[in-house]
Order: sequence, then structure tokens, then C-alpha cells
Amino acid sequence: MIPERVREDFPILQQRMHDKPLVYLDSAATSQKPRIVLEALTRYYEEYNANVHRGIYFLAEKATQAYEDARVRVARFINAPRPEEIVFTRGTTEAINLVAYTWGRANIRAGDEILLTEMEHHSNIVPWQLLAAEQGARLRYLPFDGAGRLALEELDTLLTERTKLVALTHQSNVLGTITPVEEITRRAHAAGALVLVDGAQSVPHMPVDVQALGCDFLAFSAHKMCGPTGAGALWARYDLLDAMPPFHGGGEMIMLVQLDSSTYKDPPYKFEAGTPNIADCIVWATAIDYLEGFGLAAIREHERQLTRYALAQLREVRGVRVYGPEDVEQRGGAIAFDVQGAHPHDVAQVLDQEGIAVRAGHHCAQPLHRRLGLSASTRASLYLYNTPGDIDTLTRGLEVVRRLFTPRTAVRDR
Ligand code: PMP
Repeated sequence: MIPERVREDFPILQQRMHDKPLVYLDSAATSQKPRIVLEALTRYYEEYNANVHRGIYFLAEKATQAYEDARVRVARFINAPRPEEIVFTRGTTEAINLVAYTWGRANIRAGDEILLTEMEHHSNIVPWQLLAAEQGARLRYLPFDGAGRLALEELDTLLTERTKLVALTHQSNVLGTITPVEEITRRAHAAGALVLVDGAQSVPHMPVDVQALGCDFLAFSAHKMCGPTGAGALWARYDLLDAMPPFHGGGEMIMLVQLDSSTYKDPPYKFEAGTPNIADCIVWATAIDYLEGFGLAAIREHERQLTRYALAQLREVRGVRVYGPEDVEQRGGAIAFDVQGAHPHDVAQVLDQEGIAVRAGHHCAQPLHRRLGLSASTRASLYLYNTPGDIDTLTRGLEVVRRLFTPRTAVRDR
């Protein structure tokens, strides 16, 4: 059980917006940060800020220890077999680009295929487009059906001996769909392909165990799970990291630099050139401790109940159409919808006046919206600090939208 007083841990949620209590429903974009995370950030800068892996003085050793402890913490959180399998990055986007630029350039050849899904975030599409254009490879897409589920019956046709990689989201940031990663991984491996999972929306919201998933790469971001912006990770099997060429070149990732060539450190350092994001990686571990204080299963259950309530309430507002699976076992709390007669930007603006923060646009998923026949949608997305009261405020706000924008005849017809 997640108690309602969780909200009190988040200073930003205590404020009023346009003279109304703030209702934050945009955690799929970025989550809010609890006080202990903010305090840990200040403590780092006030007490032990120093560059890592370099100094032999006390502060540098303390910072290095905390940074490496954070790696261990992140590894344990996703049940990675070894902490050296965690490469710190700026976030999910950089982690996926790292795989595309290093593993991709070394392994993808002309005529090879990379299988994506039509519900991917742009950060799990564009790096593969760049790679495919460079190598002469082809991208293929697994579609989703009218209920927002991946069309698994097409997998056998799309997975061929040419498929070298399947890259898919674990939870859609628009439809909320939780994808069957284990099954897809099993079938991809049987076809000889590796699997990259975009965990940006799953790792913050449910227990994720890379060994149980069986995948080869997992990318995720700290800022969506109560941690700071600018930190994230790539998890990959050690043998893959070991065989991959470096990403960025510079200090810290080398063993020996000569004038014409260099040798590189072992993973993960081979992929962490330059001064890393020390403070934010360290503080990410505090965010993980905070989430684990409740338990990811409890957070998932809280969101499941809240999503069920939200779907039922939204169904009651005339003119509102919700996208994605209806069954809360198959989805998380990213809820995209539209309001008949009102552009999503207008919906978000009216809701903002009611103190409600939602997102409007394509949510970095244009192919998904095109598939739905939309150019944009409005999205409310939930996290542990949201309550049924927030949903009630949202539905009241949508009644205001409806009154302002929906022609009376259309409301009657629908
Ligand atoms: N994938 C998904 C499914 C996402 O929701 C996001 C963030 N909106 C990303 C990738 C990109 O994450 P980041 O911006 O933290 O790199």
C-alpha cells in the first residue's frame, strides 16, 4: 500500500498552480523528486564533491566510492548479474544511441534487418534509422492492434534469419501497453536476433528483472524514477559490452594512449569517457532506495488501481476517447485520450488553468499517432504520489473542457 501522505515527501507538489492545488499528471515525461533526493544532491556538493577515479585524497575517494556504490545499487535494482554490466549514461536516449553506434556499427551489415514496433518512442526509432542508413540495413515494424496490443501473430513473418536485433519498449509512453518482452525475447533469440528493451517507462513503475526478461540490452533513465535529470544507464550482458567498440573517446576510458593509437579499459569504463555525471548518478541510488522503501510491486499495484479508476472515470466524461488496453493487467498508468472537438493543446491549456499538469502533443511517438489516425493526443500519466482525488480533479477539468469546446449537438450525438 502506498499511503496518501507520500505526496508530502515531494516539496514541489505542495504548491498551488493558478491558485488551485497542483495536480501533477505528467510523470511519464519526468517524475517529481522527493525531499531526500534533493537533500542528497545538496549533501554531495556541500560535503564530498570531487572528480572520481582520479584523486588519492579523501574527498575523491569518497566520491568514487559513492559513484561505484550507485552502480552496484542500479545493478541490483534490475537484478543484473554484475555491476560492471551497468554503463552510466545521460538517460535512455543516450543508452540506445550507445548500442546503435557501437554494437550496431560492428554487427549490422547491408541487408540485415532491425525489428522495431509501431509504438516506439522516437529515441528507439531514430538511432536505428541512422544506423540503417549508414549500413544499408532495413527497419521493419511490428504493428499494434485496435486494443493497443502488439500483433504477435505477425512476429513469425517479421522475424527472419536477416533479423539481427529486436528493439522494443517495455511499456508504451502513450498507450500504457506493457509488452510481452519475455515471449518476444524467446522468439527473437530462437531466430538468432538480440533484444534491446527500452525500459524508460517500465523500470520506474514495476519490478524489472533483466535475468527473468532474458533480454540482451536494457536502457532506462533516472529522472523518470524520482532521480535527477541527466543520469541513466545501459545494462548489457558483459560478453556483449566486452566485444563492443568504445562510444566516446577521451579520458578515463583508456588504458594506454600513444600518439597513433590507444588501448581501452574494460567495461563499463570503456564507455564512460570524460568526467561522468557524478552527482546525479550518486543521487539516483537515493531515489532507488526511496522507491524500494515502498517496493516496486506496491508501486505497480497502486498504479494499477489508480489506472482502473482513471479509465472508469474518463469513460464517464462524454466526448472523451481513451487509447490503449482497457485491461489494467496489460497496461500501466500512461493514459492518452482525446476530447471530441478540442485540440489536445487546448485541452492541456484549460486543464492547466485548473491546476492540472498533463501533456499534449505526439509525445515523441509520431508513428504511433499516425497509426491511430491522430496528429496529437492528451496524456495523463500516473506515479506513486497520485491519488484518486487527482483523477477526480482531472475529470472535473475535462467537464470544463467539454463545456468550452464541444458543440452541444455533438455532445448529444456521442
Ligand atoms: N523511451 C520511452 C518509452 C520514453 O517514454 C522516453 C522519455 N519520454 C524515452 C525513451 C527517452 O528517455 P530520455 O528522454 O530520458 O532519454
